[in-house]
Parts: sequence; structure tokens; C-alpha cells
Amino acid sequence: MVSGKSNVNPTIATKCAICGTYGNATEVYPAHLSGENLDEKAFSARRFYGEKIHFRMVKCNTCSLLRSDPIVSPEVYSELYNRSSFTYEGQVGNLIKTYGYYLKKLTSFIAEKEALLEIGCGNGFFLEEALRQGYKKVFGVEPSSEAIAKASVNIKASIKQGMFDKNMFPPNSFDVICMFQTLDHFLDPSKVLSDALILLKPGGVLIAINHNLKSLSARILGEKSPIIDIEHTYLYDKNTIRKLFEKCNYEVLKVFYPKSRHSLGYLFSLLPLRPLFVKSALHRFLDWTRLSKIPLFVQIGNLGIIARKK
Ligand SMILES: [Zn+2]
Repeated sequence: MVSGKSNVNPTIATKCAICGTYGNATEVYPAHLSGENLDEKAFSARRFYGEKIHFRMVKCNTCSLLRSDPIVSPEVYSELYNRSSFTYEGQVGNLIKTYGYYLKKLTSFIAEKEALLEIGCGNGFFLEEALRQGYKKVFGVEPSSEAIAKASVNIKASIKQGMFDKNMFPPNSFDVICMFQTLDHFLDPSKVLSDALILLKPGGVLIAINHNLKSLSARILGEKSPIIDIEHTYLYDKNTIRKLFEKCNYEVLKVFYPKSRHSLGYLFSLLPLRPLFVKSALHRFLDWTRLSKIPLFVQIGNLGIIARKK
């Protein structure tokens, strides 16, 4: 157990998720943790204010995959994620439209809509969309008990609390497995993908949408990019994500740059504007004029992959 506001020192070395080597990597950014306790606030999705913090980031000399190294123990992560709050409720409508759009596109790759699993399902809003699109059985896995507590009654019983593991479900169960903005967060993505492969039916597909390390904004902003973050243990581009899935024995069907629907206010919140009181004042102005509600369907630096169980 971790006490409420304790500092937690990163001491656990990580390995490259593709080639499996420890070390064999070059530092890209030194750790930036000063002046803030590592508590559950740091692990809640989409923090708006506060100084950005991240672990030391390194790039594998063999595969070019970027990762945090060293990090804190899985027990600390588990505890922090369990207590982290569900802070993106205001964006749920847009997220449903975005992920729902890509779920429809999966129809051409699958034989039937019998069972779907979402890893990192938050309050289950996407599982409800999957039901609306005709999936007969939907399941979710989510570490945050607070997020699950906010799930609607018809979906709550289908969400398992904890870190995803293959033993949560019988093998060959799912036509579709979805991972939206979760692949960057796993401590061992290669194990997660291997476990997910066991749970897919033969011919079943996995779709992941996560950050693109080579997006224009990430390249321009460098260490100041919102994606260089303590929550992101691994960050991918189109080459490294493909290599990871192929190493885990998937047949890669498509790597793409998804569009997503966002409000102007949310896009504004991602800008690395300083000082913060100016950013805050401008944000209040956007809210007051209701300009912040304007929806935009844009490529905002995400990376998608669709891959099949052979
Ligand atoms: Zn490597």
C-alpha cells in the first residue's frame, strides 16, 4: 500500500517491449519529477493544470521504441491507478463519436458481433456504444474503482476491476478487443498483447488507438508535449507499433492516423501555454462565450492499429 501523498522513487528498470532488452538504450529526456509528490492526481487522465512530470525517457538502440526507465513498482502503479479519478466526463460525448466511428469500420474485418472486450474502459461509455452497434455481449476491464462506480447500471456488472490479465476470461472468447488510449500506459505491453491474443477468437481483431510519438505537435513540442508524461511508460510511432504487434504474433491489417472529435475548449487545454493564470483566464473566456463547446473532427496526433489473430 502507498500512503496518500508519499514520494515514490522510480527504481524499477524497464525493458524494450519489442526486443526485450534492458539497458541498450539512449536517454532522450532526463527525469522531471521535482517539486511534486507522486500521488494519484498525477495519474488521473488529462490533467489540466500543474507542472508536467515524467520519468526518465530512453529510446531502445535496436528498435527505436521510447519508454520510461526506471519507473515505480507495479504495486505502486496499481494502487495509484486504482485511486485515480475519472476526469474526462465532459469529453465522453466526443469520445463515443470518435471510437464509435472506428468500431463501425471494424465490421468489414470480423465474422460476427458476438463478444467485445475493452481494456481500460473507464465508466463503460464505449461498451454502451458497442451494445448500440449490435454487439451481443460486452465486457470491460478498468483499474479505477471510481470510474467503475460511475458506470451505468446495465453495464457495471460487465466491468472487472483490476489490471488486465488473460485469466480474467476464457481463451478464444472475443471477436473484438479494443484499447483506447491505454497501450501507452501498460507496464508490460508485450504481455498485455500476448494475453489479449489468447482471448481473441481465431480471426478476431484488436484495435488500439493511442498517441503518435511522431505527430507534428509531438515533434514540435518535444519534451513539452503533453504526451511526455509520467503515465506513459511506452510511446509509439507507426514503425514501432507495427513491430510490437508482429513480435506478439498478430497479423497487422492496418496502421493509421485516426481523426478524433474534440471541443475547442479541450484542444485549448492541451496547449502548453504559460503562465498558467493567463491560460486559465483564456479558458474561462472560451467557456463564457461558449466557444469552448464547438466540436472539431481533427487529426490530433493519434496513432491507430488494427491487427488480427491468425
Ligand atoms: Zn528494442
